[in-house]
Amino acid sequence: SGSDEVILIVDAVKKQFRGLKALDDVSLSVATGEIRGIVGPNGSGKTTLFNVISGLYKPTAGRVEFGGRDMTNVTPYRLSRAGLSRTFQNLRLFGDLTVRENVLVALDRSRTLDSWQYVLAPWLVRARDRRLRAEADAVLERFGLAEFAGQAPKALPYGIQRRVEIARAVAARPRLLLLDEPAAGLNGEEVRQLGEMVRSIRDSGVTVVLIEHNMGLVMALCERVTVLAGGRVIAEGTPAHVAATPAVIEAYLGD
Ligand code: ADP
Repeated sequence: SGSDEVILIVDAVKKQFRGLKALDDVSLSVATGEIRGIVGPNGSGKTTLFNVISGLYKPTAGRVEFGGRDMTNVTPYRLSRAGLSRTFQNLRLFGDLTVRENVLVALDRSRTLDSWQYVLAPWLVRARDRRLRAEADAVLERFGLAEFAGQAPKALPYGIQRRVEIARAVAARPRLLLLDEPAAGLNGEEVRQLGEMVRSIRDSGVTVVLIEHNMGLVMALCERVTVLAGGRVIAEGTPAHVAATPAVIEAYLGD
């Protein structure tokens, strides 16, 4: 397999907080078009790994390559421009804006006009706003959120808010989408819908990496799973393979 089939490489990454090795020599690579699961007990370094990949944390050592380019010390903003989107464990929606506006925020960032156009070419601004609104509505429609477009997320059920957050991340047209515990707090039916949503996102050409505790979802969704424990990769492979790995079973005892 050629290097253009690999979208993400994490190479010997360490992240140390004072004395604590949150990531201790973590390496993994994700194939373009894959749905990869990241699992592991609490405190094993999963979110820290996402924070390093998305540029929020500078690794103590090692490198991160995204889309064939070294992105080790690149800012979150530039990574997002390069096609990386993510969601957070705790929702980070603008609770008082509407659902549509939350999606517009993500669209807007990728297409800013020059400041002179706001003054001298207001018709360009209006045309762009119409285009963006149509695009936002298409995203909402695609994910079954059209009926909530004018409502504030904070007034909506938690499961819908989760879906809005993922829709917003996808609206930025990423090549790689990182989802941090997307199923947390969802009921069985919502988890099933989430699974369909993630699969349809992947089928549209987006590579997905998700941190997830819901093993049913991981089993149903992920081609490969990377298991972290104590900041290290202790197993990797198909869900069935890692579930049968003694070191994995051991790591989960007492979690
Ligand atoms: P997980 O997501 O697997 O639950 P985390 O990546 O959140 O694990 O945390 C891994 C370890 O790193 C934990 O011991 C956690 O307390 C520590 N840690 C994470 N972020 C920070 C930080 N900003 N400062 C200090 N310690 C941190």
